[in-house]
Amino acid sequence: MYVTLKIGSGYMAKLYFKYGAMSCGKTTELLQVVYNYNRKGFNVILVKPEVDKKGDTKVVSRLGVEREVDYILSDDELLSDKVELDTVDSIVVDEAQFMNEKQINELWMISKLYDIPVLAYGLKSNFQGHLFEGSKTLLEKADVIEELVTICSCGKKARFNARKLGEEYTISGDEVAIDGIDATYEALCPECFIKKVLKVEDQKEIPKVLRKKNEK
Ligand SMILES: [Zn+2]
Repeated sequence: MYVTLKIGSGYMAKLYFKYGAMSCGKTTELLQVVYNYNRKGFNVILVKPEVDKKGDTKVVSRLGVEREVDYILSDDELLSDKVELDTVDSIVVDEAQFMNEKQINELWMISKLYDIPVLAYGLKSNFQGHLFEGSKTLLEKADVIEELVTICSCGKKARFNARKLGEEYTISGDEVAIDGIDATYEALCPECFIKKVLKVEDQKEIPKVLRKKNEK
């Protein structure tokens, strides 16, 4: 039996998921990537979900760099509704955690069937420590998964995004509350998240707090 190999197409384009906690420099890296593609004459498109109200029609990094978004997708739209994909060299997505399962699956299929690399940047988990729909689908489908690191105020590696209302950490509320508009966020290491947000102060409290949660 013979297997036909398509010579020269051994490297299908990849779907990348680059995730990290708040303030890990995701948007700064994303804007650098878009700039580099543009400078070399490639047609890169910058996409973000409509639910991300921050920056309006722009992507703005914490270092002050910004760029206009090319396409904003509402929850019931697919990218192929809006873009002639044959002309696109690369797709970069900001706040990809807010995309739904269908939209991420579309990006995955685009990377394979159009041979267009897709770089999706976003958070992995929400303020309660659970995966967002977009992040979950990206973890399932991405060819390359990379964690961008930021540091907790205690100096350890931050992995969680704690939501704050004023000075208080909160564990209840809607999944989406945009940073700087509806609430503020702080990147915390697992230990600080357990102590400060889940309010488990010491070892003895672990079963007590977990059992209390089950009762709800
Ligand atoms: Zn910490």
